[in-house]
Amino acid sequence: MTAQAPLFNRLALIGVGLIGSSIARAAKVQGLVGSIVATARSPATRRRVAELGLADQVVETNAAAVEGADLVIVCVPVGACGEVAKEIADKLRPGAIISDVGSVKGSVLRDMSRYIPPSVHFVPAHPVAGTEFSGPDAGFAELFVNRWCILTPPENADESAVSKLSTFWTSLGANVAVMSAEHHDLVLAITSHLPHLIAYTIVGTADELRQVTRSEVLQFSAGGFRDFTRIAASDPTMWRDVFLANKDAVLEVLGRFNEDISALTRAIRNGDGQTLFDHFARTRAIRKGIVQMGQDVPDFGRPHPGLPQPKLPRPYASSDD
Ligand code: NAP
Repeated sequence: MTAQAPLFNRLALIGVGLIGSSIARAAKVQGLVGSIVATARSPATRRRVAELGLADQVVETNAAAVEGADLVIVCVPVGACGEVAKEIADKLRPGAIISDVGSVKGSVLRDMSRYIPPSVHFVPAHPVAGTEFSGPDAGFAELFVNRWCILTPPENADESAVSKLSTFWTSLGANVAVMSAEHHDLVLAITSHLPHLIAYTIVGTADELRQVTRSEVLQFSAGGFRDFTRIAASDPTMWRDVFLANKDAVLEVLGRFNEDISALTRAIRNGDGQTLFDHFARTRAIRKGIVQMGQDVPDFGRPHPGLPQPKLPRPYASSDD
């Protein structure tokens, strides 16, 4: 083997939407895998994946996709992960790494691990990167550059498998963090799931306001509403599954949010300017912190040609270490 050998010989992608197709594109650009085999649920998507040349091979079933693969990444909505694991369990190659990209980790760990044989290394992952678009045309190779990918390996996970998957993601340009699935779900409930729920709510509320016409809402949307509409355009299947799968953590943060909004409601009703000012000053400081950490990229996850391509030195020597 040379130093240029790919990190994995054969990558199987199950589901080739925004995330799966971005992984395919980025892995190709970086020369991370020897070949890519892909599948999706519908013939239309499989056809499109072949047309776009995203994989070396497009197959009809999930079970066929994983045969001989040393890395399998399940890129389907979280509610479908258990069923997929059941379909592929018998065909997984001993020693292979199986991962996913789901936005909720506790339910995926529970639903998939019951089917995955002990000879296979299961390392769940969540790239915290995305847009409001779906499908194989929506992906792009730079999606993960400078974004976080959170790995949530089970307690007994094989360390070299975790490290190899971590190398895969850093080679796609991501920063990798490792935490428990439970902690991930609480962190994402407040940083991602609750904001999406608020966006879905506010856009629905505006649509139902009788005194303000829909055209007025659109015309004056730059007042703040427009940013919510982008988030509220996110994929309904994916987000239905996220809220069902992360029910406990979302209800926990929603309870706190409701208390805080009641306090602000009271302050407005009572004309309590000091409370409002103090609250807004505190949140402004949080915003400054996010900007300082470089987590504010004003591209809303869309392709950003201004960013450097992730041409990283390859810290690995062979595909089978
Ligand atoms: P997407 O664009 O809607 O793509 C989903 C893909 O999964 C499609 O190719 C779909 O095939 C396929 N699929 C669905 N059920 C399947 C099954 N039972 N067997 C095989 N393929 C199946 O979704 P996405 O945005 O890439 O999201 C995929 C995962 O990434 C989700 O778990 C989501 O939580 C996570 N994620 C999303 C984002 C984001 O911003 N979008 C960010 C981070 C993580 P068809 O097209 O044929 O239906």
